[in-house]
Order: sequence, then C-alpha cells, then structure tokens
Amino acid sequence: MTKSEQLFEEARKVIPGGVNSPVRAYGSVGMAPRFISKAEGAYITDVDGNEYIDFIGSWGPMILGSAHKEVYKNVLDACQYGLSFGAATEIEVKMAKLICELVPSIEMIRMVNSGTEAVMSAIRVARGFTGKNKIIKFEGCYHGHSDAMLVKAGSGVMTAGIPDSAGVPSGCAEDTLSAVYNDFNSVEELFHQWGNEIAAVIIEPVAANMGVVLPEKDFLNKLRKICDDNQSLLILDEVITGFRLGIDGAQGYFGIKPDITTFGKIIGGGMPVGAYGGRREIMELVSPSGGVYQAGTLSGNPVAMAAGYTQLMILKNNPDFYTSLNQTSKQLFEGMKQIIEEYHVPATLNYLGSLGCIFFTQNQVKDYTSAKTSDTKAFGKYFKYMINHGIYIAPSQFEAMFVSGAMGEKEINQTLVVMKKYFEGL
Ligand code: PMP
Repeated sequence: MTKSEQLFEEARKVIPGGVNSPVRAYGSVGMAPRFISKAEGAYITDVDGNEYIDFIGSWGPMILGSAHKEVYKNVLDACQYGLSFGAATEIEVKMAKLICELVPSIEMIRMVNSGTEAVMSAIRVARGFTGKNKIIKFEGCYHGHSDAMLVKAGSGVMTAGIPDSAGVPSGCAEDTLSAVYNDFNSVEELFHQWGNEIAAVIIEPVAANMGVVLPEKDFLNKLRKICDDNQSLLILDEVITGFRLGIDGAQGYFGIKPDITTFGKIIGGGMPVGAYGGRREIMELVSPSGGVYQAGTLSGNPVAMAAGYTQLMILKNNPDFYTSLNQTSKQLFEGMKQIIEEYHVPATLNYLGSLGCIFFTQNQVKDYTSAKTSDTKAFGKYFKYMINHGIYIAPSQFEAMFVSGAMGEKEINQTLVVMKKYFEGL
C-alpha cells in the first residue's frame, strides 16, 4: 500500500470522502487520490516521492508555477508582522488600486476569501442594485457552492452527476434560471418570460468547469446587449479566466465590459482570496457605504494580500509573460491535437491561451449537453496512465488543464511523449 493510499484510508474516517473538496477524491476515475507533499515550479510531488508535471496548479492560481521565489519571500516578510489583524491595512489599498488599474471595468473592489463568496456577494449586490431577484446562469458553469448557484452546475457537481445538491431549499434555487451555453435563443426566451425580474446574467466567459468550452463569436456581446436592454447586470465570473487569459482577463480578451466581475484564487497567488468589483455606483451599495451587507473577518488578510499583490505585480511588470505562456500552451495543445489526429483518437480538444481540455467525444463541444457526450471511462483510463507516468492532470473529464509560466519545452515535450505512448498503445 502506498503512503497516499494509507492516508486516504485514515482520511475517510475523519473527513467526508477523505477530502476537503470533492474533485480531490479521484472518485470519477476510481482510484485513491495522491496526497501531495510539495510543489515547486512546474512540478508537484506526492507523499510517496513521485514527481509530476503539474497541470492543475492548485486549479488555476499557480500561474507563475509553485513556490515562486518573490511571492514566497513577500509572504514570509508579511508573516513577521502578524498573520491577521481583522483591521484595515495599506496592502489592501494597494491591491484594490492595482486591480482597478489593470481591469478598466472595475472602479471599486471588495476582497473576500474564495470564489464562492465572491459570486454569492456579487449576486446579492446585483439584486440590491436592480431591486430584482432572478439570476440567469448557464448549464455546466460552476460559480461556487452557494445555495443559489448549485443549479445545473459544473465541476465536482457535474462529475458526480448531481443535478442539484441536497440541503438547498427550493426557495433558494427558484430564482436561478438556467440557459444553455452558446445558445442565445435560450437566453432570449428567459428574458421574454421574466425580463423585468432578472437582476443579472452570470457566466464564465470561457467555461472551464464542464471541461473547457469557448464562447462562440458574439455570444458574450449579445449577453451584454440583452442585459442593457432589460436593465439587468452582466456578471463575468473570472475566477478562472481573470489574470490568466491576459492581464485584463477574458473581458480584455473579448472586449466586453461587465457590470460586476468576480475573481478567485489567482489573485491570491495560492492563498485563500476572492474578490468582486465593478462599477462605482453598484459597489457603493456594499456595506458599510451602502445597504447590501457583506463582511469577512479574514477578508483582505495581510499574508494573503502579500501573496496576491506580488503575483499580480509580477504579471503586470512582465508584459511578455502572457505571450510566452500562450506560446508554450499552444505547443502543448497543438501537439495534443496532432496526436489525436495521428492515432485517430475519438476525442476533441478545446483550448484558449493556457486553458485546455481533451474531451473523449468526437462531437464538437460547445455546451453542457455536448460535453456530457464524453466517454468518461475512456478518460479514466487515460488519466490513470498519465498520472502513473508523471503527468498530473485533473482526475475528471470536466476540468481544465492549466499551463503555468514555469513550464518550458522540456515539460511540454515530456507530456506529449507520454500522451503519444498512451494512444499508440491503445
Ligand atoms: N467560479 C468559478 C468560475 C470557479 O471555477 C470556481 C472554483 N473553481 C468558483 C467560482 C468557486 O471558487 P472557490 O472554489 O474558491 O470557492
């Protein structure tokens, strides 16, 4: 028995499912999870001493690679002054100013501790601002685990095949309307039916929780317009895409201006951080300046801010970072496409920038329904081979591969070699 397997046995006795977040349990691929002991640069190591090339990167935040020296140093420095004050600090002001500078649609921003909190709060302020209750979300998009968002969600909910969660009172979900990703008609229909009751449309501008699904041309622009026409707000959930597709996120990439943006993990550089921000007149409604209550003892925590601020400053000060990251990513994803073609693998590859996903289906994947045509058993076999050959990818068909700036030719070539061997052997 490996040490990971031993730990998993122990963990299951004291932690539900043995993990503190569902996808970590490797449930959908039917094996014990690897317990991790450390990560550095492009590599992650488990408790049995196996080293892997890390394409999860803590599910997004480790865009510079793990244990980046400057981030790490500034975190240690911050620790010397105290781990938490529950009081206002200078670094919070610097962080807010930096994000407002980098993302033009954001005039004010509030720090929270996770993506879940960011979305939950953004929805509250959207409802407070518009005086309306209904929210449109898209099937297969995941926006954290707040009650109202656990309706046709992606990520772990999708993997487990749970359409909804137990414990969510129907009243909490009845104002959440579901539309189909990339199907503008489905949105129009909801507006037709509920137009003056819709507070906001929330979307992952590139969906990364049903695998990676790109928005079709003009889809996001049409959402912008229909929101404007109906005095509804557009919320872009950039928990994954923010500071990943570029310094100004998906909204910069697609040239779309949301009313509210939510961020998560990546702005914490590996520490627990989330944030929501947007137009001043909306954000001024948040307490204590306005009547929409939202608070957090550890929000804007000085150590977390030190990590996040340093990471964002590194990204800001290295204008070539994204060009180089996207080039490395292209090498990987185009290489994967070639392998799929060469070995006639019944699979489809979707990618944008440093986010990508191989779907084990021959269908084009553009929404939840097409994503679900994937052969998850075939994914499971592929996953087992990859992890047993040193490639650390998400243990689910419906998650993204994250490329980091710490990766280069060596890691990409190695990954493609392993992949090629797998498909060759089928
Ligand atoms: N929104 C999106 C788009 C996400 O991908 C996630 C988590 N991966 C969340 C919200 C929730 O973030 P957290 O897990 O930090 O609560």
